[in-house]
Amino acid sequence: MSLHEHQTLRHPVILRSLEVQRIERLTPHMQRIVFGGADLPGFFSASPDDHVKLFFPNSAGELVTPTLGPNGPEYPLGSEPSPMRDYTPRRYDAERNELTIDFVLHGDGPAASWAMRAAPGQRIVAGGPRGSFVVAGDFDRYVLVGDETALPAIGRWLEEMPAGARVEVLMEITDTGDRQALTSAASFTVNWMVRDGADAGRGGLLEQALRNLPDAPGDTFYWIAAESRRARAMRLFLDNERGIPKEWIRATGYWKSEKDGNEQARPGDDHSPMNPL
Ligand SMILES: Cc1cc2nc3c(=O)[nH]c(=O)nc-3n(C[C@H](O)[C@H](O)[C@H](O)COP(=O)(O)OP(=O)(O)OC[C@H]3O[C@@H](n4cnc5c(N)ncnc54)[C@H](O)[C@@H]3O)c2cc1C
Repeated sequence: MSLHEHQTLRHPVILRSLEVQRIERLTPHMQRIVFGGADLPGFFSASPDDHVKLFFPNSAGELVTPTLGPNGPEYPLGSEPSPMRDYTPRRYDAERNELTIDFVLHGDGPAASWAMRAAPGQRIVAGGPRGSFVVAGDFDRYVLVGDETALPAIGRWLEEMPAGARVEVLMEITDTGDRQALTSAASFTVNWMVRDGADAGRGGLLEQALRNLPDAPGDTFYWIAAESRRARAMRLFLDNERGIPKEWIRATGYWKSEKDGNEQARPGDDHSPMNPL
């Protein structure tokens, strides 16, 4: 195997009905929901960077999901499709048949609103993961950068990192109370940055911290997940100003700010999880 070889895996797309088992408010803006159900066995997620497509009840309170035809997803005619959003499988416990997903409570939106009011016994539908991008494990340092939507992936990544790995996390959160206790066998530091009322779509804290990050000996892999425009700007900074090889950066837009005419913002450049299933 050559140096820093990433792996891309494909998985068959399966839609699963998930039933809420338990809910835990981790921090003021993070709701942990543990799902179970008869469809869950066989769930597979190879990378902390994975995502599932979650389908939430439509305005009539119904779950209307697509069937997967030869031309992609097809919805039944005459019904309002369920809103679909991307979420990170934070933890899958096959023995307990439990899938944990952490939802940022950012305000309005079908996903955040549903998570805020979720109760045991309620159901949603999950599709995927349809693929996994497994980052090479032989970098000298990993720099993980994100807002709170990236925290589930970063928390999982830290838990899965082996002893001997070196990780630096730059994490932007809404309030000091949104800090989480993170654990890892790796050697890691977390720079928690509190927005303190600033707009999560505009930010500046992550960008500045990335600029100020001291160099380290050897090769560094950069993983970035934040609002689309911000993720893209940080990727361009590393690429254009720092000359980091493209294969050592993975930057993904995890959500789109609709303020300031950003409707046209593209998701991150490495992959486009906001595309349809
Ligand atoms: C690969 C991937 C993995 C992800 N994993 C997670 C995860 O594990 N947990 C998680 O909480 N999110 C995660 N996200 C982000 C999540 O999909 C988006 O935040 C999504 O837009 C939320 O949907 P919604 O229905 O709540 O709001 P939407 O209907 O999409 O948006 C409603 C309004 O809220 C704004 N908005 C959306 N998200 C945010 C936010 N985070 N902060 C501030 N304003 C926001 C929008 O600009 C819009 O104005 C992930 C995204 C991707 C692409």
